[in-house]
Amino acid sequence: MIPLTLSAIADFCVGELIGDDLTIAKVMTDSRADCSGALFVALVGERFDAHEFITTAENQGAVALMVSRKVDSPLPQIIVQDTEKALGQLARFVRQEVNPKVIGITGSAGKTTVKELVASILRLKGKVLATKGNFNNHIGVPLTLLELEQDHEYAVIEMGANHKGEIAYCASLAKPDVSVINNVEPAHLEGFGSIEGVAKAKSEIYQSLGESGTAIINLDCEFASQWLEEFIDCHKVTVSRHNDAHFSANNVHLNSEGLVTFDVIKRNLTGKESTTVTLQLAGLHNVSNALVAAAICTQLDVDLGLIKDGLEQAGAVKGRLNMVAGQQGSLIIDDTYNASVGSVKAAIDVLVSKPGEAIFIFGDMGELGNESARYHQEIGQYAKDKGVKKLFATGTEVEHTVTTFGEGGELFAAKEALIEAVKKQLQPSQIILIKGSRSARMEQVVQALQEPQ
Ligand code: ATP
Ligand code: MG
Repeated sequence: MIPLTLSAIADFCVGELIGDDLTIAKVMTDSRADCSGALFVALVGERFDAHEFITTAENQGAVALMVSRKVDSPLPQIIVQDTEKALGQLARFVRQEVNPKVIGITGSAGKTTVKELVASILRLKGKVLATKGNFNNHIGVPLTLLELEQDHEYAVIEMGANHKGEIAYCASLAKPDVSVINNVEPAHLEGFGSIEGVAKAKSEIYQSLGESGTAIINLDCEFASQWLEEFIDCHKVTVSRHNDAHFSANNVHLNSEGLVTFDVIKRNLTGKESTTVTLQLAGLHNVSNALVAAAICTQLDVDLGLIKDGLEQAGAVKGRLNMVAGQQGSLIIDDTYNASVGSVKAAIDVLVSKPGEAIFIFGDMGELGNESARYHQEIGQYAKDKGVKKLFATGTEVEHTVTTFGEGGELFAAKEALIEAVKKQLQPSQIILIKGSRSARMEQVVQALQEPQ
């Protein structure tokens, strides 16, 4: 969380501070978890009252308390009328202070999946906060917002509901710029009476959008036409597996590895664009989830190329052709998991297929025996022929790659020196492939060059 003083918190939560003023940067509501340095907010639920767990929170390192009645504790305490309401007020304040682009996601099924897809895309553009796990209710949403740091550019917030008004409340805290109801199914009917009741409760997320907000509307949902008529103020973008929506899918099939592959078609006034996407996620329902994620990210000025990259690596294994945001606006292709001659060439193909200046950071390929020098030379030639502009290498065998590559290639004795040299020339237009065998541990270079997560 952004650092705040207890007196400031007391002010906008309309509470009274008793004890010393401190600056805190963490809020906790679970006394069993690590509360070190945190403000512990004592929530009162149906089955428990956290005012009874104050000592546990103290033992877990809490440094201040927010309570709805004065408690016997040496810690400074803010006394408010209702701790749950105060948690919301604090979250609303932090959201306004940081002011990231906020995406609100609700629906009966696929909320977490869409959230993960959107976050995977947006991480290629900047720092993203996303709901952890399924923390999507009237407590989870404020707690998620409270994790915002000053440099978060995007917040992807999942909102679930089991009663009327819950989404309206969560949306009033998160104030999404772009919102979606992924679908409506007869789930949680007990709380809503009928499927119409479910749809109405979910539509609170559109209701909260102002004129500048965008509603992503899934035309395959039976309530879509109603929403298109009802929410006339906000901008609307449509998605469908079948119709001529702004975003639709074509050529949906399973590839030879059983992965879902399809063309994302994007339509607007000026025409049509498309890109082929292969998801790491199983199940054809994910086509719809991916289209929704694409529609959301387009509203945040992400182009179709990055949308493809983000969708394809959601759920992918770290270090295997993973795109991550690099410093200075560059884009890193992290393929540091391992390297063989074939996989290095394949990774170079991916590198040069992307628009931008192609940079290759290379560590040794191991276990090549007598042929090692020749194979390392072969990679130098391949990179040159394919149009790689600069090669930064570190290790013993890669000397052969640098020599063959010629102009634009540089060899470094240690990773630290390589990292310094790369940083000096970083530019937003650069696409940087980082690769080497497991023993080369090139992920250390990724860590040093990527934007802090
Ligand atoms: P929860 O209400 O538990 O938070 P959720 O809405 O976050 O669920 P996910 O966790 O993304 O949903 O997906 C749960 C399951 O719902 C998936 O395993 C899949 O079977 C199904 N599912 C996901 N997306 C869709 C979809 N677009 N249409 C239908 N079913 C889906
Ligand atoms: Mg979920």
